[in-house]
Amino acid sequence: MRQILLNQPGEFSTSEQPRPVVGEGEALVRIHRIGVCGTDLHAFAGRQPFFTYPRVLGHELGVEVVEVAPNNLGVAVGDHCAVEPYLNNPSSHASRLGRPNCCEELKVLGVHVDGGMRGFLNVPIRLLHKSEKLSFEQLALVETLGIGEHAVERSAIPAGETALVIGAGPIGLAIAQFVQAAGATPVVADLSAPRRGFVADLGIEAIESPGDQLFDFVFDATGSKASMEKSFDYCAHGANLVFVGLVQDTISFHDPSFHRKELTLKSSRNSAHAFPKIIRMIEEGRIDTNPWVNHRLTLRNTPTEFAGLRAIPDLVKAVIEVDEGDL
Ligand SMILES: [Zn+2]
Repeated sequence: MRQILLNQPGEFSTSEQPRPVVGEGEALVRIHRIGVCGTDLHAFAGRQPFFTYPRVLGHELGVEVVEVAPNNLGVAVGDHCAVEPYLNNPSSHASRLGRPNCCEELKVLGVHVDGGMRGFLNVPIRLLHKSEKLSFEQLALVETLGIGEHAVERSAIPAGETALVIGAGPIGLAIAQFVQAAGATPVVADLSAPRRGFVADLGIEAIESPGDQLFDFVFDATGSKASMEKSFDYCAHGANLVFVGLVQDTISFHDPSFHRKELTLKSSRNSAHAFPKIIRMIEEGRIDTNPWVNHRLTLRNTPTEFAGLRAIPDLVKAVIEVDEGDL
């Protein structure tokens, strides 16, 4: 099978590798689609916190089960699945609190351990979430949606409220969709006019900047230090601010105004227990991801085309297709 390895920032290599052999509690899956994430682009650029090289990227996966160890989780050969790429230690402090997404020993497939930019991959059966309806491309988007779902969960926004979502990338879009699913109204701010147009086409209000408008719920999904520091200014008194995007840097804020407003500041990392719910919501048409994918490339061409992704001005989501020739 073909495998694409990121040797170091800016440098991929392609190799032929043997198919992995299924171990206890594992399934061998054939990779069909791989979503390209900000994490992958940052890793390629050498700007991803907590990242080591060499690494096989790919943590947003739509897969098919081709071999599976005996299990009572209902996973069988032929199933189409999303892969939850979070490898936690079930006995860690955070896991025992029901928060495996921020487990002390968490390893994310394609980030801390090798991921899915290859024909086949072994994954623990418990990380597979199947759907009889979704396409492989939709299944590859479940992880990204999970980031948005978890952020909205963290905010505890009630129905009827309005939320400011800063940044109209896939994570910002995911947040906006789950804000809507919670019965609240998102307002998305982004400096890019094409991105604002894309948001408006989804029927969501898009603004260039909030100006002096204040919000009770603010999400920052930019991964920009300047934006994250500025986001405090858009918070009303008593507001909730959730940092979803992250930066390799220190964030500072003016404490007297933080105190005067008695803000609640939260980080949001990965997702927990969200995959089955998200798959159901896409199946029911409550979440629509179809407009997101506006660029496709093949696994074979990934080493030569990946660097060009950053230059695509209106890119929302790129998806890599793994074809028969890669197996
Ligand atoms: Zn991702």
